[in-house]
Amino acid sequence: MFKSLLAGVCSSVLAVSLAGCSFSGQNVDQNSKTEQVSPSKSDSNTGANQEQQTKIKGSKKREVKKTSGDSILTVSNPESIPVLVNKQNKLPDSYNPKDLVLTKVDFIGAPANADKRKMRKEAADALQKLFAGAKKDGVTLIGVSAYRSHATQVALFNSYAKRDGYEKARTYSALPGTSEHETGLAIDVTGANGRCAASDCFGGTNEAIWLEKHVAEYGFIIRYPRGKEAITGYQYEPWHIRYVGKKIATEIMSKGITLEEYYNATPVNN
Ligand SMILES: [Zn+2]
Repeated sequence: MFKSLLAGVCSSVLAVSLAGCSFSGQNVDQNSKTEQVSPSKSDSNTGANQEQQTKIKGSKKREVKKTSGDSILTVSNPESIPVLVNKQNKLPDSYNPKDLVLTKVDFIGAPANADKRKMRKEAADALQKLFAGAKKDGVTLIGVSAYRSHATQVALFNSYAKRDGYEKARTYSALPGTSEHETGLAIDVTGANGRCAASDCFGGTNEAIWLEKHVAEYGFIIRYPRGKEAITGYQYEPWHIRYVGKKIATEIMSKGITLEEYYNATPVNN
């Protein structure tokens, strides 16, 4: 059923943009060339406007409820490690992870106590092991940007909306609550020279290749893989890794699927 859904999706215009990874205004220009599906088009699927439950593997269920406008659902399990957060599933406005800690890895240009150095405890521990594992293989990784508070995402989005208008801002900046960086479970990483931080040129580097091969061993996935733009709603981002736990990460990476496909969720650009 999911595959047949995708057949239609893949022929439609893709709304592809960075996953709220922009940590400075510098990314705005490069993102502004992305295309956008108008809200009216995505709203035409009335089914998405109704309360729904998405079945998760096994007996667990992810309950979601409708929020106002744009068919965006609010997740009811924001603290769950493998929580699905994307353009259609947002964190509750009141949610802030309770177990954030400073990661013990090197970052590029971030003050010692900056939010962007933080992740939830389990993810931070796994990240430290991942960086150490890479180092053993002769690959040096550094952090670029991990946690971003809801308040920061609100301020960031509002500043873009004020400058370019709401609809334009949506094409390159994540709506508050829909950025994985707000979960405290995602981080953008790059190589030691920092040259391709959160940029397309990171793809194909030794660091990117190592991540593709080994992230699952540490419980992470490449969240926005190449060729899955219609499902994730984001362009290929080899630098954005997301902690989901080893079991799920291994299944996702070995099958070459996305978190959306793992949950059999509706493709983002449906
Ligand atoms: Zn990111």
